[in-house]
Amino acid sequence: QPELVGDFGTLMVWADAGRRMKVRANAETPLDAQTARDFGAEGIGLCRTEHMFFDASRITAVRQMILAEDEKGRRAALDKLLPEQRKDFTAIFEVMAGLPVTIRLLDPPLHEFLPHQESEFAEVAEAAGVGIEVLKQRAAELHEFNPMLGHRGCRLGVTYPEIYEMQARAIFEAACSLDVAPVPEIMIPLVGTKRELELMKDVVDKAAEEVFAEQGKRIEYLVGTMIELPRAALMADEIAEVGSFFSFGTNDLTQTTLGVSRDDAARFLTHYVDKGIYARDPFVSLDVEGVGQLIEIAVTKGKATRPDIKLGICGEHGGDPASIAFCEKVGLDYVSASPYRVPIARLAAAQAALAKG
Ligand code: PEP
Ligand code: MG
Repeated sequence: QPELVGDFGTLMVWADAGRRMKVRANAETPLDAQTARDFGAEGIGLCRTEHMFFDASRITAVRQMILAEDEKGRRAALDKLLPEQRKDFTAIFEVMAGLPVTIRLLDPPLHEFLPHQESEFAEVAEAAGVGIEVLKQRAAELHEFNPMLGHRGCRLGVTYPEIYEMQARAIFEAACSLDVAPVPEIMIPLVGTKRELELMKDVVDKAAEEVFAEQGKRIEYLVGTMIELPRAALMADEIAEVGSFFSFGTNDLTQTTLGVSRDDAARFLTHYVDKGIYARDPFVSLDVEGVGQLIEIAVTKGKATRPDIKLGICGEHGGDPASIAFCEKVGLDYVSASPYRVPIARLAAAQAALAKG
């Protein structure tokens, strides 16, 4: 491990001995996963699968999937994506060598994948065997006024379960193919109700059973959810009846609790900090008073239903020392930070545990 040398290395050894919380990393490529391990990450807390979909080699198939008019059309595109996703997960599992890996099923607003150039439409038309005008019409129908509050997260899985089915299948096929496989933690994004999670867990469980029957082998896995909507935090007791872990998506939870767009906040938040409305940028350092209360409610309610529920954080705050101190205080099991923030998270987790006494 590059940082485990000299005095800094000694300090990290002391930190690791002093901390209670585990430190994981947000990573979606084998390279990021390796960097995370080199910096001492003890697992992946968030693998954002949508980043894999943007890869140039498969974006046409992704667009074909999004613009398909029916399930048959989507499945034709998903059949092309399955081997790619299997490779993605196999490579990450290999690097992580049995450490926990939390894989989040597809999250972004669909329009992010839409073609814009004429040549892009032409590529999809050829792949799907349909006319360009039909595709343009479909693309226009997918326009959203508020994409961040629109057709994203598990809403994609609810309307097009075959997408999550393909991803779950890829995860299980990858895990079954390895001698040293992790216990995959399959995470459903943007859940607000128990029923959403139930429906998505059924899709995952069904894919698992199919793959296990085909492979003549079973593996352990978990299904859990992001908590990134105030409703999910408030209904955490019900949601914990279905999910065996919670990961706090504090980027969206901050956005939805404060009613402040995470993409537009930079324009005015500095004035808010200057005028003392917020002590620090709430997208950088957790708004302990507001968002923090929702996290505490979710922790209490989640544990009331499922005392052994696994609790983590995977928003940007997972790498911020002040926010990490809050995570220690409310008893999360791990924080997940970007790979380069893993060492600081290890130190902050130790500092928080020692301060708590
Ligand atoms: C979050 O919302 O905090 C999160 C980790 O998910 P994303 O940033 O991908 O929306
Ligand atoms: Mg989110």
